[in-house]
Amino acid sequence: MVNYKADKFGRFIITVNPAYTSKACSECGHKSAENRKSQAVFQCVECGHTTNADTNAAINIKERGIDKLKSSS
Ligand SMILES: [Zn+2]
Repeated sequence: MVNYKADKFGRFIITVNPAYTSKACSECGHKSAENRKSQAVFQCVECGHTTNADTNAAINIKERGIDKLKSSS
């Protein structure tokens, strides 16, 4: 279904390993369960970066997708 939708709108899908995307800091890369202050709040215990937890995970997923694209070209 996702592939169908992507094709319909002229997009393509890149799959990435989601491991630690919710626990890794999108600013410095520090991985820790302690970074998750709550379901909604991400606060890095290393650099102090604070943001919405979903936004942080989405940035990590985007970066993995970009890295995957770069390594495949
Ligand atoms: Zn950090």
